[in-house]
Amino acid sequence: MKVSEILSSTRHPYPSLEIVPPLRGITKTELLESIAPFMEFSPKYINVTSHRDEYEFVQQEDGSFKKRMVRNRISETTVCSAIMDRYQIETVPHLICGGSTSDEIESKLDNLEFLGINNIVALRGDSITGEKRFTPTPGGYRYASELVEGIRKYQGSASYRRSHKIDNSDDNPRYFCIGVGAYPEKHFEAANIETDIINLKKKVDAGADYIITQMFFDNNVYYDFVKKCREAGITIPIIPGLKPLSTARQVSLLPESFSLNIPFELTEAIRKAADNKAEIYRIGTEWCTMQCKDLLSHGVPAVHFYTMGKSDNIVSILKQCF
Ligand code: FAD
Repeated sequence: MKVSEILSSTRHPYPSLEIVPPLRGITKTELLESIAPFMEFSPKYINVTSHRDEYEFVQQEDGSFKKRMVRNRISETTVCSAIMDRYQIETVPHLICGGSTSDEIESKLDNLEFLGINNIVALRGDSITGEKRFTPTPGGYRYASELVEGIRKYQGSASYRRSHKIDNSDDNPRYFCIGVGAYPEKHFEAANIETDIINLKKKVDAGADYIITQMFFDNNVYYDFVKKCREAGITIPIIPGLKPLSTARQVSLLPESFSLNIPFELTEAIRKAADNKAEIYRIGTEWCTMQCKDLLSHGVPAVHFYTMGKSDNIVSILKQCF
């Protein structure tokens, strides 16, 4: 079932769970066991993030450099396939512009369709090690809006229609339901939130079906953002994204990595907990539970959790909220 259909047909809000593909060396059994605790909540689908292969240059004896691929993670498609096989639930792989030409993206789409996956989250991706800013692959996409447009065009193309025996009268088949990302505290490259929302609207106009937000720790930031989006003419569902803070280090790491604010009240509580790791974990979980309950009381359709492969705190939040 498509996420858009779930969103429009579900009477009760539901948790949406995002996992990161395992590092090389982790077995399929280990991965499936790590998400087993979530199954108690009958998730409607699991999101699986996408990561670029990176390269390093190794100096040879003759002084020349050889390019070597550093592949760290199992592909999102493989992980999705394993989850669907084991748990018989829908998966939502993320698809990024970075590292692929438009042809390679089409090939990925064919592979997903082959597996029966008809949901994706379309993203630009970030710069890789050594790049100051995101650099599109030659023949690839610069922005997520171009990726969304490319996906929709591909499915309307003559070759796609021919291979799928689609009648010409069907002007643009929408096999894939497409989610896109958004930033309630603005994307770090955007000059201001208004410009970022104009760019978000380009993704919606290109054919996105729903939006998932970056994590935030103050719900007012999300409510203001949704209001601004609605004023800008964005009408599709906007699923809030949450992540429970779990270590003291994240107080500096998360703002640095995701360009977001953490409220003083929360950072103070964590500072006072000093070296008490269990207490910090409890504070982070409690804060996220409070955020989730408040979002649900405001009628959000779903809450997206960035699980980062950890389940204890998420399970505790789900038990209290869903
Ligand atoms: P875009 O929508 O392309 O926006 C990027 C920047 O360009 C923004 O500043 C925007 O304002 C600007 N912009 C957009 N269009 C235009 C235009 N036409 N002209 C000028 N400026 C423009 N990263 C991964 O690598 N893998 C993942 O699986 C992954 N999952 C994510 C899931 C969610 C829900 C979110 C919110 C983020 C995720 N990310 C992931 C991170 C994401 O790839 C980065 O934040 C990236 O920097 C931006 O991606 P985007 O799709 O939002 O980009």
